[in-house]
Amino acid sequence: MKDLLGGKGAGLAEMSRLGLNVPPGFTVSAEVCELYSSHVAAEKAGASTLKPVFDEMKRGVSFIEKHMSGRAFGAVSDKQGGSQPLLVSVRSGAASSMPGMMDTVLNLGLNDQILSDAISAEPKNERFLLDAYRRLLDMFGDVVLGVPHSEFESRLNGIKQDNNVTSDEQLDPNALREVIAAYKEVYAAKSVTFPTDPEEQLHMATEAVFASWNNHRAVTYRRINKVTHLKGTAVNVQAMVFGNAGADCASGVCFTRNPATGERKLYGEFLVNAQGEDVVAGIRTPQPVETMSAAGFTEARQRLDECCDTLERHFLDVMDIEFTVEGGVFFCLQCRAGKRTGRAALRIACEMVDEKLISPSRALLVVEPTHVEQLLHPHFDPNDVIAPSDVCARGLAASPGAAVGEAVFTAAKAEALAKQGRACVLLRAETSAEDVGGMHAAQGIATQRGGMTSHAAVVARGWGKPAVVGCERMIVDELGNKAVFEISGEDGKSTELEIKEGDIVSIDGDAGIVIRRSVRLGAAPSASSGNLARVLRWADEKKTLGVLANADTPGNAAAALLNGAEGIGLVRTEHMFFDTPNRLKAVRRLTLAVDDAMLEQALEEISKFQEQDFARIFKAMDGLPVTIRLLDPPLHEFLPPQAEMPGIANEIVKDLETSGGRTPRRGDDIKKSILERAASLREANPMLGMRGCRLGICSPQITKAQCVALFRAASVAESEGAVVFPRVMIPLVSFVAEFEHQKSIVRAAFDEVREKFPTSTFEAKIGLMIETPRATLVASELAKTADFFSFGTNDLTQMTLGLSRDDAGPTLARYAKSGVLTFDPFAQIDTEGVGKLVELCVRSAREVKNDISLGVCGEHGGDPKSVGFFHDVGLQYVSCSPYRVVCTRLAAGRAAVERSGEGER
Ligand code: PEP
Ligand code: MG
Repeated sequence: MKDLLGGKGAGLAEMSRLGLNVPPGFTVSAEVCELYSSHVAAEKAGASTLKPVFDEMKRGVSFIEKHMSGRAFGAVSDKQGGSQPLLVSVRSGAASSMPGMMDTVLNLGLNDQILSDAISAEPKNERFLLDAYRRLLDMFGDVVLGVPHSEFESRLNGIKQDNNVTSDEQLDPNALREVIAAYKEVYAAKSVTFPTDPEEQLHMATEAVFASWNNHRAVTYRRINKVTHLKGTAVNVQAMVFGNAGADCASGVCFTRNPATGERKLYGEFLVNAQGEDVVAGIRTPQPVETMSAAGFTEARQRLDECCDTLERHFLDVMDIEFTVEGGVFFCLQCRAGKRTGRAALRIACEMVDEKLISPSRALLVVEPTHVEQLLHPHFDPNDVIAPSDVCARGLAASPGAAVGEAVFTAAKAEALAKQGRACVLLRAETSAEDVGGMHAAQGIATQRGGMTSHAAVVARGWGKPAVVGCERMIVDELGNKAVFEISGEDGKSTELEIKEGDIVSIDGDAGIVIRRSVRLGAAPSASSGNLARVLRWADEKKTLGVLANADTPGNAAAALLNGAEGIGLVRTEHMFFDTPNRLKAVRRLTLAVDDAMLEQALEEISKFQEQDFARIFKAMDGLPVTIRLLDPPLHEFLPPQAEMPGIANEIVKDLETSGGRTPRRGDDIKKSILERAASLREANPMLGMRGCRLGICSPQITKAQCVALFRAASVAESEGAVVFPRVMIPLVSFVAEFEHQKSIVRAAFDEVREKFPTSTFEAKIGLMIETPRATLVASELAKTADFFSFGTNDLTQMTLGLSRDDAGPTLARYAKSGVLTFDPFAQIDTEGVGKLVELCVRSAREVKNDISLGVCGEHGGDPKSVGFFHDVGLQYVSCSPYRVVCTRLAAGRAAVERSGEGER
């Protein structure tokens, strides 16, 4: 239903069904937006495009009138003799929440005549009606006709000044008439016309909302949040109820539980005599909902409690609602699943299970992998003590985590710095939808104004970005490129501190503070205790996929284990050489060896540290499988640039001489040969060059030396008490003969080592990586002699798409921008192409050998959406970076629950 009606429309429909008090309305489906957008793209949009829709909307309006007895659209009296006009709102609402990114128009249905008739009919409503009209002129001008809101705002401010008032609600009817006249002047100055026919207003507003689907900020938001496959926005037309029609009216927003901490307590704010927009805009400071009864809204508060309870029980999730109280009567205007921090998500899931509201399976669906990722975000190192004098501003702890970076004051600057790889903290008076690009680019956000439901707070929380809002003692001067902080000294006197662009600041979104210096960041919380551990335990119980880690060093192996990895799915042996300069030198000598003696010498050196590393990894992974991939070095990653080659060659010659190198040739000869070899190794396309098993086939000594090192290491680790399960993996295989060639060397090395360690008992599994399309096509042959397959989806994607993984960035960025491809196939598996090959390969392999072990070790193994796909095709395991293991365990658990339907309750 959400796909068609959008989140807002579906929520409204559901609330009506639940019997909650919702103002009557109807929803125009997102399919109409899709149609409209396609007409616009083809430059075919015209009066006829939406004509059939407008005809149907007429019926919708009659439906609203029927349920709002006493009010008529476009007139002050209905057939029953009502005396007030029906005003409606037109709101956007896509299937996926995009807060504030698209447009909304309120109070439609007024013009000069209707206004004066309505006032004559109900003189007590004069001020309220005038206020509604001036709001309509402002919003319609801004949203539908493109007149900047600031033009209206400056006229309004002028009139407030002339009338000696500071807030809008102090304007009396005469002043409001002045405002309306001034707004009409703005229209005239811009040569635009306000349509007096309410029906035309409705049509134009509807079209504007559809058009806002493709406005810059909405497109940016979808790109950043990877919102794809949506048809467009639905349009919700609903009777207006007024929170601003007097002292017994109010508007508010409320979460059924605290979205920052997860505490089970209504968490919200309301404003007396205000429209909903006023609450989020931060113009007046809202009051917490706890004070509703004390403020005279006892009955409404009771209805709010009941509404929250009903919604939680129905949706089995924490809900975020918008409400209005008109004349003491409570209306619920909107509901959606509440965006929450990672910490809150875990607490809410666990407590809802304890309350028996949901099952552990359902809890896995309530916590998303991004929540867990967020929780593992940086926090300040407690050893870096923050003195009170370091704190330059305090505000609301809007979104947790800590951030450090250069102070910037505009979104554009934040984006520019991020492009240069520089960390920044965005300081703004307040944020709006225009700022989303910069907010995303910054490490953290602090605002001068706004509450916990302000734009900055909501957006930052959704992304898990640290934010502090409402720092009243911070004055952001965007034009002056600085912020001025009012600091109270110990003597009670205030001083001013100026932070200029580029000065380093830190923010703590848990404590709600801005700090005038760089604070050290500390380690992430543990996955083995608290609510996180509990949720992960549920995930582990449900998941059918094993979660292994890609770990190349003993340190990585330890991190993987700590995060709950069930083994190692990929040791990239070539990564062991990045660790120290000596290792890199050794591997360069190996690559540039000009004769067998030099090659043997380099291999001997390399084998020594490989054996040590392998032994430490085997010991760390006691009892768990360790999959070691034979050397797969794309040559360009190890060959120095051409210009540095003579220096490197000299160094190699010197090393050979001092180490008593066994090469019989003289230094000059060797240098020349090394340079010649380096030149001969340069490849036009290294990613498709001498790598993977091709290297081991052309230089079998390399395969043999590595295998001897790894089997020796396994034997030593076993002799010291570890239970070892080595799995040797041959990379980049296309032909059965390639695999057989390498496999026989691995076997021979195993036998050779076993002779030296006759008491060893471990067995070795020998398998291969499926990284070329050809390998997927000959899987049934390969499976006959392989113990396992591991899909190297990085290379498989590169080769299936014929798109270099090293150079794909700019192409994919352009594709994303133009909408040709809305996901990155190197991050998320291309299910329709690469995925089909994976499926085919799995099927062919299982037909030959039902129990063959099948897994994936490309980057996709740590991508939650791809994990769902791998679950579906029936792999036994996924392997990902140690730091993604935690999220991947959750993703695997969710995939199992989603498919089984167990998460319904
Ligand atoms: C792969 O290609 O998916 C893979 C894991 O290998 P690498 O990234 O090292 O090429
Ligand atoms: Mg690969």
